[in-house]
Amino acid sequence: MTNPFVVASKGKDRIHLIKRARNITNRYGLTSALMDLALQKFSDLLEKFDCYATFPITAVALKRHRKLINKYLGQNIEFAVHGYNHVDYSQFDPKSQLEQLQLARDVFERVGIKPKGFRSPYLSRDDNLSKAIETAGYSYVSNQPILWEVLSQDDIPLRAIVAYKKALAFYKPWKSSERLSIPKLCGKLVDIPVSLPDDEILVDRLSGSTNLVKKTWLNIQSQAYHRGELFTLQLHPERIGFCADSLSAVLAEARVLSPAVWFARLDEIAIWWKTRLEATIDISNSEGGQFNCIVNGPSGTTILARGIEINAPSSPWTNGYLEVNKMNFSFKSSIRPIIGVTPSTSKELVFFLRQQGYIVEIAQQPEHYSIFLDQYKFDSNNEISILELIEETNHPLLKFGRWPNGSKSALAITGDIDALTIWDYVYRLFGR
Ligand SMILES: [Zn+2]
Repeated sequence: MTNPFVVASKGKDRIHLIKRARNITNRYGLTSALMDLALQKFSDLLEKFDCYATFPITAVALKRHRKLINKYLGQNIEFAVHGYNHVDYSQFDPKSQLEQLQLARDVFERVGIKPKGFRSPYLSRDDNLSKAIETAGYSYVSNQPILWEVLSQDDIPLRAIVAYKKALAFYKPWKSSERLSIPKLCGKLVDIPVSLPDDEILVDRLSGSTNLVKKTWLNIQSQAYHRGELFTLQLHPERIGFCADSLSAVLAEARVLSPAVWFARLDEIAIWWKTRLEATIDISNSEGGQFNCIVNGPSGTTILARGIEINAPSSPWTNGYLEVNKMNFSFKSSIRPIIGVTPSTSKELVFFLRQQGYIVEIAQQPEHYSIFLDQYKFDSNNEISILELIEETNHPLLKFGRWPNGSKSALAITGDIDALTIWDYVYRLFGR
């Protein structure tokens, strides 16, 4: 087994480690009273905006503080699993990974929590670990960081450049210019990305002001909204005091947008992503370019249309789309307003498009479809370009919205709980 102290120090320089030790003694007490206050403050702030959060916690911390955690169960918090111990699970063999994940589940279940999701300590990840998470019965994982490229050079002081670069080298995040910040169904597991820069990078590594935190997160929120994607805002509960105004600013701004931002816990996002994929639409062609549609989908299913004449109540959405407010309707169009693909088109591409809400049919006649693709190769690096290709044309299109109830983007608040007292940190150093 790896030494937890070595892993914890990997992404940090010496000055950062000394600062970290000082912060730990300031933020945690000898008892859990300080963290109790932090959690209550967090929960109260969320309630003001009718918002929920997901806090991954280690099983050992949960075992030690079950009474305190129980207090927040009935409130607006989902507790997910942050490992049995706070260790790097990618260093374990597959059998031990599975054992640890099952052990952690058992602990949660014994205190009355049925955990749905998992986030690794240090965001460590590999294929074996993903398999173990799925086999152990979790329905989502949230380990993949995505770096929103919103910091300017002025935001990173010279003395912090090394610490910042070390953090990025350690987490190996995707970049928002190259990848989408959206969930992805892999087998039975929904993979939900987590956004960077988080509170730890901004506050501890960059010694950023409250203004920097606020500016950075508002900027990410605005980009995620513009792109129709997910902002998983990571704020560790022990930093709520410093970051409360920034979190409030993000929630206040997101709350008033129209189309709406969907505020959701990670378990709700996982359920939505899976059930929305099961939605079906039956489009039958009658005479003279008239089509009839029957939609079957989970509550909240959003139907969007552009460039076609809808015979049903609808309201303006955004990006040139209308939101159709009926599940059975007819429309007029000179062409099938969906995506046709050749039989040899990559299955991964078809699955990716369906996850984005597009209606895809395998067909041979390009002339019948407003968009027709014949692409036998596809990988994740093509995701952004293929969406641009589809969205930037003005071809007629009928599709499902990514998010429920006509929402344009999604916002999840999350914060790992590594410890509730100084003692939990001490135990961590000994792998307990
Ligand atoms: Zn952690």
